[in-house]
Amino acid sequence: MENRKTAVVTGGSRGIGRAICVRLAKMGMNIIFNYNSGEEAAQETVALCRDHGVDAYAVHADVSDSAACAGFVAEALKLSGGRMEVLVNNAGITRDGLIMRMSDEDFEKVIDVNLKGCFYMSREAARIMMKQRYGKIINISSVVGVMGNAGQTNYAASKAGVIGLTKSLAKELASRKINVNAIAPGMIETDMTSVLSAAVKEKMTEAIPFKAAGKAEDIANAVAFLASEESCYITGQVLCVDGGMVI
Ligand code: NAP
Repeated sequence: MENRKTAVVTGGSRGIGRAICVRLAKMGMNIIFNYNSGEEAAQETVALCRDHGVDAYAVHADVSDSAACAGFVAEALKLSGGRMEVLVNNAGITRDGLIMRMSDEDFEKVIDVNLKGCFYMSREAARIMMKQRYGKIINISSVVGVMGNAGQTNYAASKAGVIGLTKSLAKELASRKINVNAIAPGMIETDMTSVLSAAVKEKMTEAIPFKAAGKAEDIANAVAFLASEESCYITGQVLCVDGGMVI
């Protein structure tokens, strides 16, 4: 690999994760991301990143599995020659339902992927970044983690947990010049929101001051800022990228 920064991104095969990989590649970073089930989509992301002249690799790893996260980071370090300047914890899932009908499995699965995955990956990254005395950790939370949402107790708990993790880790790692921040997207057009009915989407859009859903690139642009030196004095913050939903 050339002398470029390396960004490790979780869930880069599609949606917001893909847009983040491509945006950081455009900034000149080498990209190593993981995916869970979308091998073909992951290879498309690799090609889109390489179009920007950087190295890009996709690794299969389930972020809800601690050992798989350790293995993914070990593989990433081999590919990058030991470098990892940026970590973006983006992989996430929903299993929506009202609490009275929510199974233990649906609650636990969402916590396992969204919150524990963020913890496993951040712990691996912290070990490397502390030695480097440099790093940027960017966690993708959600406006739902800030304001709650009926039918998403599991998801809201996981995303509020990500915010608590972000603030605590920012305090732990500040002395080593490591920035830890979260982004809270509002309603963004991806596969995750494509399953919502037209009526639900319309109701949600009506509640957005900008009266429109956001694009994956809107989140990627905010990640690019937090991954850049222009945000070097910002840590422990939650940046809502939501067309004004959380005001
Ligand atoms: P998406 O289109 O459903 O994509 C999810 C990505 O996460 C895919 O690349 C998927 O990989 C990966 N992933 C899922 N489970 C995984 C696991 N166990 N291990 C590794 N990777 C896994 O979702 P999105 O809309 O882009 O959302 C990205 C992030 O933004 C999530 O954290 C989500 O909660 C957050 N967010 C989204 C919105 C929104 O409106 N879309 C709003 C707020 C927050 P495979 O395809 O390979 O399985």
